[in-house]
Amino acid sequence: MRYISTRGQAPVLPFAEAMMTGLARDGGLYVPETIPQLSPAEIAALEGVSFEEVAFRITQPFVAESFSETELREAIRRAYQGFGHAARAPLVQLAPGHFLLELFHGPTLAFKDFAMQLIGQLFQIALSREGRRITILGATSGDTGSAAIEAFRGLPNVDVFILYPHGRVSEVQRRQMTTPDDANVHALAIDGTFDDAQARLKDLFNDHAFRDQVGLAGVNSINWARVLAQVVYYFTSAVSVGAPHRPVSFTVPTGNFGDIFAGSIARAMGLPVERLVVATNQNDILDRALRTGEYRVGRVEPSISPSMDIQVSSNFERALFMAYGGDGAAVAQLMEELKSGGFTISQGALQHLREIYDSGRVSESETLATIARTRAETGQVVCPHSAVGIKVADEHRKPGVPMITLATAHPAKFPDAVEQAVGLRPALPPHMARLFDLPERLSRVENDNAALKSLILERRTA
Ligand SMILES: *Cc1c(COP(=O)(O)O)cnc(C)c1O
Repeated sequence: MRYISTRGQAPVLPFAEAMMTGLARDGGLYVPETIPQLSPAEIAALEGVSFEEVAFRITQPFVAESFSETELREAIRRAYQGFGHAARAPLVQLAPGHFLLELFHGPTLAFKDFAMQLIGQLFQIALSREGRRITILGATSGDTGSAAIEAFRGLPNVDVFILYPHGRVSEVQRRQMTTPDDANVHALAIDGTFDDAQARLKDLFNDHAFRDQVGLAGVNSINWARVLAQVVYYFTSAVSVGAPHRPVSFTVPTGNFGDIFAGSIARAMGLPVERLVVATNQNDILDRALRTGEYRVGRVEPSISPSMDIQVSSNFERALFMAYGGDGAAVAQLMEELKSGGFTISQGALQHLREIYDSGRVSESETLATIARTRAETGQVVCPHSAVGIKVADEHRKPGVPMITLATAHPAKFPDAVEQAVGLRPALPPHMARLFDLPERLSRVENDNAALKSLILERRTA
């Protein structure tokens, strides 16, 4: 399997190189040249199989040139052994025909652990094989950063720098990034929003001299390996509620479009997915784009579901690439227009997107009301992101098609919002109870490329 850029101008790469590069050199995102297919019989055979075995069967065709079967199986085994639930991604029922997919049983209590833990293992195999050193640079609206730090802390040959918007992540999120004391972990608080952090990240990756000097590697949700790892739970959950014998829909709390895009890959591989429903908070660029065809960047409005507080949704570029029939030049043109505020999606591409995606937007008060209502109706306490999903899912459910809503974080990661909604502070799981006692370590940094570059050069342990 070879990987090509959504902008059509970067070298074609095998899986391991695409994974270690992150962003393509033409500014685009790597996508597989073809999508492997699973027959209905192969999908049916995933029923009752361990999460790890499903992960192996789904990811193997995408990575076969870069990792042997033994290496892949071992990476998967290590990636998920620290999860706090035997099913890894258990499903609970909320109502007839509505299920919640709990993706928060990993070490940092958010779905990002699924991909990041696997990436950490795969990086380690590839780097030690090649005797290479890299500097991982990530931007986070909260959960990616801690997941990356957990996945790479203490690993030889890697420094991990995580940029997060100062004052705009929850205390649990911040502490998860600032308390690991490994010398190769560097938490950087940038004076700006998540979009600023992401813009600086892109600038540094596009600075080829700097990129080569420090061996920059990206593990943000633009990294194809992350999307791939997230495809797995679409299969495990859909099969649990009757696929491939009946279609299933998903509602996904969405920011950077990585998680939901993984659902579209599952669908393209043959999983009968009827609808993929984008659920946004008040930062609703994706909902607006799908409704109107106008992708226009607004101002980021901080919300109680901060991991979705973004306006520029990086992985949407991959969906556009597919919707434009793989026309890299057309995508490059749209991204050029984005620099001056936005673009209009062509009628053909919009129609293609609407065959797959629905969307909805949830206000702050509706999010709180949904946390309260879900607790009253089911006893489940959900995080604000998951509540955004539940509300939008309820607006899109259809008789006879099970709806699976992705619960993207543990409620204890967002205790203030949960307390506001239901008057109780959810407890952290026992393994994280010390989080509030540990000393914090972080660096403040200006929203400026030069400042960031010199900080990285100074702090690297290489
Ligand atoms: C990252 C994150 C999201 C958004 O996921 P994307 O893949 O960026 O769309 C939603 N909820 C939580 C809790 C997250 O950490």
